[in-house]
Amino acid sequence: MKLKTEHLKHPIVIAIDGTSASGKSTNSKLVAKALGYVYVDTGAMYRTLAWYCLKKNVDVNDAKAVANACRRWKTDLCCVEKNHLRVVHLLVDGYFPEKEIRTPETAAAVSHVAAIPKVRDWMKKKQRECIQFGNLVMEGRDIGTNVFPETDYKFYLDATLAERSARRAADGVNENLAARDQRDSQRASAPLMIALGAKVINNSDMTSEQTSGLLLAEIRARLPQAK
Ligand code: C5P
Repeated sequence: MKLKTEHLKHPIVIAIDGTSASGKSTNSKLVAKALGYVYVDTGAMYRTLAWYCLKKNVDVNDAKAVANACRRWKTDLCCVEKNHLRVVHLLVDGYFPEKEIRTPETAAAVSHVAAIPKVRDWMKKKQRECIQFGNLVMEGRDIGTNVFPETDYKFYLDATLAERSARRAADGVNENLAARDQRDSQRASAPLMIALGAKVINNSDMTSEQTSGLLLAEIRARLPQAK
């Protein structure tokens, strides 16, 4: 009989993918806090590259120029404690551009840099390196399909466009989410899609307590030992 001891040797990765403003960040943080896992926001990593390109006047539609910038920038992964949660940050020259990556300019640029295959290769490598920090809750667009396809913990969050736009507007952000989702879903390299075996949760009519409760129940039922 095969003993279920893999989790003792290999960190567990909970993959939470989905559309923009589908509640990935809020719920991933709640789940990570409840389980004591490290939270990784891969969208922040792509946003950091978009911000860096804008700052360095690199045309985000020029795949070669962006790939070159990505090859050369000086980055570090670090794990910090924030509001009782351990979070991974991608630092550029020792700096995490926390506010800058949330501007409308960065939001408009990010899905362009994210469509570039060499950028995705670079990001995948960095994102896989995050297991050095322990068990992870990693949110993004391709975590279950491309970054950690081997994980048994795959989730896909979604909500109606009207609900997602209302959520962003409530945060004071007016953004064309449909255009970004379309670019993310239609790119050739690791597009946004539901991973095989992923549990799909449409949370249009759910609170974050309900969504994270559902995620935690599913995860705990699958963990080798009840937590
Ligand atoms: O999640 P967030 O809205 O911050 O993601 C910003 C953008 O980064 C997405 O619209 C997408 O273009 C890109 N992204 C990606 N793959 C991921 C995470 C984010 O392509 N795993």
